[in-house]
Amino acid sequence: MQPLAAMTWEEAREASGPGSAAILPVGAIEAHGPHLPLETDIIIAQAMARAGAVRLAARGLRVGVLPPLTYTAAAFGQGFAGTLSLRPETVTATVVDIARSLARHGFEVLAIANAHLDPGHLASLDAAVSEIRRDAGLTVAFPNLAAKPWALRLSEEFKSGACHAGQFETSIVLAERPELVRQTTMTALPSNPASLSRAIRDGKRSFEEAGGPMAYFGYPSQATPEEGRKTIEVLGEILDEAVYAELGSKAERSK
Ligand SMILES: [Zn+2]
Repeated sequence: MQPLAAMTWEEAREASGPGSAAILPVGAIEAHGPHLPLETDIIIAQAMARAGAVRLAARGLRVGVLPPLTYTAAAFGQGFAGTLSLRPETVTATVVDIARSLARHGFEVLAIANAHLDPGHLASLDAAVSEIRRDAGLTVAFPNLAAKPWALRLSEEFKSGACHAGQFETSIVLAERPELVRQTTMTALPSNPASLSRAIRDGKRSFEEAGGPMAYFGYPSQATPEEGRKTIEVLGEILDEAVYAELGSKAERSK
């Protein structure tokens, strides 16, 4: 289960073909409170990809993890220094082009391990998935964590919609890259129970408008590496199940 980018082209040829899956971790460079790095969603997406890859390989698939997509649409965080935001159509075109290249080389499945929940970004991925299903020539799985059924498997804080740089995300970074968490700041951060997902439904368009003047929501001071490790396993299960659901419905269609 070598990363695809570390393979030679001949090794990549071996890794492709029927029974092969490529996993694309998708994150963002985006403000995540005063205690987490801009690359938080990339760290989470890579952890999800790794945990999913282990499960898919155990089912007998050949799995290559792709380099992460690190630039994307991040309009909600644009008011905070360091956040880099692409136009959604750029993101859609990038993901579709990656899928077309993978299909050309015979990969059977593209699994998108996405950890960034900005609504413009999610829409750009939905558009990419529709286009890939229409004509890219490979199976695509994209479990949207912000939607049912997947959201129901995640923590109470996540389900409340206070799901940006709070306990959920901070715990994962504590598990994966503890040296990047400003832990003194984290421990002293007041809770911010404002629901980002409700604010999005109400038409708000930035973290500030949504009630997150420091670019975080939820309960970051409650984060623990144990919760992070458990969550990563759940994210891996979600990716695995989403891929198998797609492969199952493909088998149904071809009957
Ligand atoms: Zn995040």
